[in-house]
Amino acid sequence: MVSPSGPTGAEGVRTSGADGADAANTFLLTGIGELTTNVAADGDPCGTIRDAVVFVRDGRIAWTGRATDAPDAVASGVDPGVRVVDAGGRAVIPGFVDSHTHLVFGGDRAEEFAARMAGERYAAGGIRTTVAATRAATDDDLRTRLAALVAECRSQGTTTLEVKTGYGLDVETEARLARLAAEVTDEVTFLGAHVVAPDHVGSAEEYVDLVVGEMLRAVVSHVRWIDAFCEEGAFTAGQCRRVLEAGRAAGLGIRVHGNQLGYGEGVRLAVDLGAAAVDHCTFLSDDDVAALAGSDTVATLLPGVEFSTRQPYPDARRLLDAGVTVALASDCNPGSSFTSSLPLMIALAVREMGMTPAEAVWAATAGGARALRRTDVGVIAPGARADLVLLDAPSRVHLAYRPGVPLVRHVWKDGEELRAAGASQEQGAATALANPPVW
Ligand SMILES: [Zn+2]
Repeated sequence: MVSPSGPTGAEGVRTSGADGADAANTFLLTGIGELTTNVAADGDPCGTIRDAVVFVRDGRIAWTGRATDAPDAVASGVDPGVRVVDAGGRAVIPGFVDSHTHLVFGGDRAEEFAARMAGERYAAGGIRTTVAATRAATDDDLRTRLAALVAECRSQGTTTLEVKTGYGLDVETEARLARLAAEVTDEVTFLGAHVVAPDHVGSAEEYVDLVVGEMLRAVVSHVRWIDAFCEEGAFTAGQCRRVLEAGRAAGLGIRVHGNQLGYGEGVRLAVDLGAAAVDHCTFLSDDDVAALAGSDTVATLLPGVEFSTRQPYPDARRLLDAGVTVALASDCNPGSSFTSSLPLMIALAVREMGMTPAEAVWAATAGGARALRRTDVGVIAPGARADLVLLDAPSRVHLAYRPGVPLVRHVWKDGEELRAAGASQEQGAATALANPPVW
């Protein structure tokens, strides 16, 4: 895209030259103290490069490497007038890939959260509270809330988002949610099998008939994935299998919510069906871990849930030591994890789940990409999308080392800079980038 009025994504970035074609999403990012590429090298899954340069051309990564190697390697492809952005020695990582969110809903459940913190136990049935508020909301209400949440995710460095339906639970509302979600992402998941709809309580099989029939037909053109909540209080493994197989027959990929509130069959069902991911994995038997280790199914851990419900955290170390591919995601939803912060997930995974900072950053980027079966995101390598996060820190370790601190300084999606929330407070990124680092 060539902007007739100049490089629209360039406000505030300290640049030299801006006359190159396609300037909005073509630039040279230099002065990177630590670059996390996620291209494994020399036993380092994060593919870390120090004193690095990234050349972005037309929204894609064209070249990465050490600055000292850049002149020869990049010279042939760089227009002399290309913008240069100086990272000032800071760290750059791939944009976060949040492979599990429930961002389309009405209302909130702050009172339920407060009650839970006062000692009440979390149960899956609270979802029905949000169903009532979502059904009552207009498209514009839902769209406005969704846009605000997407902006919140972006400002914290998330550049790829999965969004689920699952708060409509009738044909009309599930179709609305799928359509609205598809306005903000290609990664939309049909979760009609979230809980049995309030109008079908006591007749779960009848509700599953609706999900695999009329409801699936109403959403299928808007969605890429199908999901089911395999848990006591939600659906049995047999019911989930019916739903997931119907989705597969309709051309959808499979994801599963499982083993969140107790031991169960969710993980083995997911592996048996070749699901891209099984999410939660808080209560796992040795057989579950072995099944995951021998499969292509990613174990997606959602520590925001355990944080917000005071449940025990999943044991990421056990999974990693068994050779399971692990992703971290927010599960952003109004009931059990109303946070969209991947940096918080990284901090929790390191502090509470036995992950190293490098493993946690990998899981929130490359791991999320694996969970969505994507190879164009979660990695900074030639040909990949130029989805980049510049941290106000010298290394990715700071994401866990400085929990709660807003370290995401700049976000580029497809090579275009996104304005972070609160960015208007700054004099612009040029000034910000020129400021001396605080560490
Ligand atoms: Zn979920």
